[in-house]
Amino acid sequence: SLPPVINFAAGPSKLPEEVKSSVNSTHIVNLENGHCSSSANFIFPNPNQQVIANIAAELESYQGKGISILCMSHRSADFLKIINKAQEILKQLLGIPDNYKILFLQGGGTGQFSAVPMNLLRTGTADYVVTGTWSDKASKEAKKYMHQVNLVAPKPQTFTSIPDRVNWKLTDGADYLYYCANETVHGVEFHETPLCPDDVTLVSDMSSNFLSRQIDVSKYGLIFAGAQKNVGPAGVVVAIIREDLLKNELKNPQTPLVLDYADQAKNNSVANTPCTFGIYALELVLEWILNQGGLEEMERRSREKAALIYDVIDASAGFYSNPVAPLCRSRYL
Ligand code: PMP
Repeated sequence: SLPPVINFAAGPSKLPEEVKSSVNSTHIVNLENGHCSSSANFIFPNPNQQVIANIAAELESYQGKGISILCMSHRSADFLKIINKAQEILKQLLGIPDNYKILFLQGGGTGQFSAVPMNLLRTGTADYVVTGTWSDKASKEAKKYMHQVNLVAPKPQTFTSIPDRVNWKLTDGADYLYYCANETVHGVEFHETPLCPDDVTLVSDMSSNFLSRQIDVSKYGLIFAGAQKNVGPAGVVVAIIREDLLKNELKNPQTPLVLDYADQAKNNSVANTPCTFGIYALELVLEWILNQGGLEEMERRSREKAALIYDVIDASAGFYSNPVAPLCRSRYL
């Protein structure tokens, strides 16, 4: 048979696949700590279980229940347990405070480019920091729904750095300030949460650095991330939203139900049929991250991988070049 293909794509990207462990013992992880509100003890059959092997092993019969996850109702007790477990692990990994809801949506990161302005609309003015393809697209999409989309700094000719925060021209009382934490195409990453006025909702697209470092969720009103880069297969978007934002009576009345955060939160992401397989696989990836050592370990690995690439580029005497300013490089150290 052909040798395995090594996938370096940003997404859909590699999922943990090899079975490396010989550990068979039952491992109990207690999620009752930190900001975690549940008292559940989740039993993971094998702490080093690799995601693809796990999916393959139970594809025909999910946990020996005689039904495949591919045919399981999104309203069944077993599927709702998967959703709840994924939420609990996310809470634990990111220390998500109790006043946030975690949603599993469809429509990709691109769907969120519309969902954000529609759901967060109040006065109709939003501020965007454009540092690459994805924040550029998001700002253009927002123009369809907002009266005024203000770029806090002029759009650069080339996306190689982050405009200096002290020069950003913010709008007083803007509905939100939006930025993309890691520009997947251009390789420009924010290494710190940008300062945002207290009365402005900070929104971030974390699709390509989600769970690769610890962040302070309480600084954000809304974080979203397409799963296919860091946490699962394509088809699911994770949205983490502060509860008070769900009570926005001024939101765009034409917000489609599938993109309506309040409705999805009220229905625990099953307002419509969600991407059940994607959520199931995402939950396995979250278990895997937890078992590998959580975000501290993911960050260490991300830095190690980034260094391998950057060191080759930097040592190539111009044969390869990376135009991104070193302090804005995607995981530069
Ligand atoms: N935001 C970022 C940072 C991305 O990298 C991508 C996809 N590469 C998107 C948004 C768009 O996501 P999707 O293709 O899921 O719509």
